[in-house]
Order: sequence, then structure tokens, then C-alpha cells
Amino acid sequence: MSNADRHDSAIGRTKRALDAAATIGKRLNAVLSLCTERAFAAAEQIDKATGKDIATGILSGIPVLLKDNICLKDYPTTCASKMLERFIPPYNATIVDKLDAAGAIIIGKTNLDEFAMGSSNENSFFGPVLNPINEKVVPGGSSGGSAAVVAAGIVPIAYGSDTGGSVRQPASFCGVVGMKPTHGAVSRYGLTAFASSLDQIGPIAATVSDCARGLKAIIGHDVKDATSLVDCPVIDLDAVERTDRKYTVGVLADSDEIAVTPDVKRVILCTIDKMKQVGHSVEMIDFPLLKYAVACYYIIATAEASANLARYDSVRFGHRGTDDVSLDEFYSQNRTEGFGTEVKRRILLGTYVLSEGYYDAYYLKACKIRKLICSAFDELFSRFDIILTPTSPTPPFGLGERLDKPLDMYQSDIFTIPASLAGLPAISIPVGKTENGLPIGVQLIGPRMHDETVLQAARTIERLTKE
Ligand code: GLN
Repeated sequence: MSNADRHDSAIGRTKRALDAAATIGKRLNAVLSLCTERAFAAAEQIDKATGKDIATGILSGIPVLLKDNICLKDYPTTCASKMLERFIPPYNATIVDKLDAAGAIIIGKTNLDEFAMGSSNENSFFGPVLNPINEKVVPGGSSGGSAAVVAAGIVPIAYGSDTGGSVRQPASFCGVVGMKPTHGAVSRYGLTAFASSLDQIGPIAATVSDCARGLKAIIGHDVKDATSLVDCPVIDLDAVERTDRKYTVGVLADSDEIAVTPDVKRVILCTIDKMKQVGHSVEMIDFPLLKYAVACYYIIATAEASANLARYDSVRFGHRGTDDVSLDEFYSQNRTEGFGTEVKRRILLGTYVLSEGYYDAYYLKACKIRKLICSAFDELFSRFDIILTPTSPTPPFGLGERLDKPLDMYQSDIFTIPASLAGLPAISIPVGKTENGLPIGVQLIGPRMHDETVLQAARTIERLTKE
């Protein structure tokens, strides 16, 4: 964040961010709702509290936006679905309480692919988000709204959720930084579940330093989330800035499954060159299991989604049409009307892979491949500090280009999915551009719990490529 930002009053910053969100954010369709009253109340408290905890918190007075699948008490949390169009949660997600305690000012909610299912933000019930860098291409997904609001300069930090790449890929498509922490480091309480063994909330910011700050504010054990880590990774913000360490880096630049475009390859090779020049040791690696990663992910993620989304029965939650029907018709009618095409496709696929006779053939096999991917990473991290890959095999693609090609859309997550399956920390940072000025990002993956190392390596590469 800029120095002007730091020295302005919290009220001043909040007003500017709310204005930008209501104008630029709405035009990009990146912002779904604002919580103006809550934001001004928080800002006023901070301006009055000079010297107290919230005024010295690490995000004190910083306006932030949250992906609209994170519960904010008394404000809409739609998941960009007709199913939850009118849902107002009676409680806060744990990260909301943590952000409040760190002095952040939550100003509203961002657009996403419905229930975080997608890679382009075109699956939102509220329409697609435009990429602020070039409005003809997608901003990525599913946290496309959160990446777009940071790229457009509306807020310095926004939060997204990442199940198979949904923080890292949109960050890459919008030319900003996005990180998925070690699974369990950030509480999932109040994050609408998609695939629980994969879902993680993560920050998106314009710089690695802001991303580190945004992550430090939300990390920590939470008794309300039984899967949250008891000993969480610790992030020392000063350590992140130390960029004199020489890393051993394993690079995965290619895939048999999907072509990595020449633009992306060029940017990766150029980054590697710069790293070698200053003394990092870089070696190309093979990851033979990569070809199974996407299939494995779509079996596990859809299986978990089919169970998680069963709760939308239109009795306790969800869209409810006419009651003048039989019970069977009631469920089928409301779920038919409430869910979009991609969500239905995943519920059907997930139910299928869990059904008798197919469980062993698909679900169990996918779980075994997941284990093999974890072991392959263990082996790699016995030799390397960090693994570097493209974040996405292609630069941002055109709006509408992959809408009726779901398999092509799924392949765009090939490089982000392995770290999700293994629960590893991974970050995307912008390192180059196509000839037409579209952003290209690289991903860095670290060992479990080494979130600080990932940030530190990212800061090192950011300095090498930007400054
Ligand atoms: N694009 C992937 C999917 O559609 C990842 C989504 C995510 O990380 N939430 O499942």
C-alpha cells in the first residue's frame, strides 16, 4: 500500500475505497454488495482509537473486500448463486473476526463463480466479471472479483478462496499476487464449503509484502474448525523482506496434457535466467503424476461438493419457489431453479463417483493418486526448497471462449491443482506480459507449513523481476 494510504485517516481511506467500489467495481461487475455502515463504523473506531490495539493492528485502517462465499453477519452472502440470493448469515466467518481485530475495514463482497466452481468467473448468477487489464479477457476464477478489485486499485488487499487454484489463477490473470496457505492454517469456519479437504481462504494483493500482511492477519488455530491446524505456520513480516537467501529451485515448465503457450514459456525461462544470474540453483524437473492431477481433483472435489451442497434443501437454506407441490417435486424444483449448470454438473458427477459400484473405481482410486502426489512432493522437497511452475498454462483467455468447453476450462488448473491436493502453500506472482500486455504469473510451491519461505522466495523473485 502506498505511503499516502498509510497516512490518511481510516475514514478518508474507507470513503475512497467505497466510492471506487461503487463506481469502478460495479462497472467491472467485480463488487456484489457493500457494507457501508459497518465500514464507516469500523473506520471511525480506528480513527478514535489512536494507540489502542485495533489502531496498531497489522491491517489498521486498510479497506478490504471479501469473496461473497465468506459469511459476514447481517449482510448478504450469496455465493453468486440464485440458491443463496437472499441469504443473510447470522454469524461471522472466523476470518471476519480476525480482520476486525487486525484493524482491517471490510467494505463489501466480491463476485465469484457460483459456489467457487469455475476458472473464469463466468459461472456467476450475477454475470461475469471484467478483467481491469483488458475487458475482453476473463479475470480468472473463481475469485475473479477479488483479483479484479485489487488490480483496479479499489482496495490493497482482497480475500478469495482456493480449492484447486481459485486464488492463484485469477491473481495471475489480473497481474497481482495471490496465495493459498498450507491447508488448515486459516480457519474455514464461515467459508461456504465446496470441497472441504481442499478449500482454503487466501489473500490477493498488489505486492508480496501486502499479501504476507494479509495472510498473517488471518492465520491461526480455530476451535470452531475441527480441521484447523493446532500449530500454524508463523509469518515474520521482516523475514519475508530478507531476500539474500539462495534457493534451490525445481522447475516444472511443461505438461504433456496441455500446451503451455510460447508466451508463458518465454516468461518462465526469462525468470529462471534472472534467478540463475544472481546465484540461485535452478533445475528442470519431471512430475509424471501431473497428467492425473486434473482428473483426480475433479473426482475428489465433485464428490465432496455433492455432499456439501446437499444442505441446500430449500427448507433450512436456499431458494424456495411455490410450496404447492409434492415433497419430491419440492426438492427437484427448487434445486433445479436455484443451481446453475456448472454446479448441477458437479453434483451429478460427485454423486456418481460416490455411488455403489463406482466408489472403488473412481473415488478410491483418486484418493490413492492423491497420496502418490503427496509422496512425490515429499521426494521433491528433499532436494529443492521451492518448486516453480507457470500458474496457468495460458495467459487470460477471451470472455466466452471456453464456456461450452468444460474440459478445456478444467485443464487451465493443471499447475495449481497438485499443491491443492497435497495441501501445500503456493503463491502466484506476476512476472511478465504477453505482447498484447496480458499478465503472466509464476507459481511457487513450498513444503507444508513453510508459508513464510514461499513468501520470502516470492519477494526475492518480485525484486528480481520488478525492481
Ligand atoms: N477452477 C477450479 C474448479 O472449478 C478451482 C476452483 C476453486 O479453486 N475454487 O474447481
